[in-house]
Amino acid sequence: MEFFVNTKRKQELANITNRVEEAVRKSSVENGICVVYVPHATAGIIVNENYDPSVCEDIVDAMEKLIPIRAGYRHDAIDSNAHAHIKASIIGPGKTIPIENGKLKLGTWQGIALAEFDGPRERTVIVKVIKG
Ligand code: ZN
Repeated sequence: MEFFVNTKRKQELANITNRVEEAVRKSSVENGICVVYVPHATAGIIVNENYDPSVCEDIVDAMEKLIPIRAGYRHDAIDSNAHAHIKASIIGPGKTIPIENGKLKLGTWQGIALAEFDGPRERTVIVKVIKG
């Protein structure tokens, strides 16, 4: 299945944990794996703390320090978003999460976030639930 996320800022982490959990519930799979994937070149999927929202802001800020928006990238001559491609490459387009007893096997403080680096945009999130 897939769902859509409308990001609000140029760069942000949008919490999608509930929507992925809903997809797992609808699948009726008790034990297996869940693949969460974004078919986009300037966004990614993160699994990390979402209890304290400042962690998400810290991740965005740290990525910005590592890969500033402007740094003379070649691709900026095309569409001015080279930094977003690089950040999305480091984060990666997807994550795999185990399912046990019908629930995502996330740690107490872990959540799933869509990492937006070239927003605001409507993003597609693909969720595949595999029994096994
Ligand atoms: Zn581009």
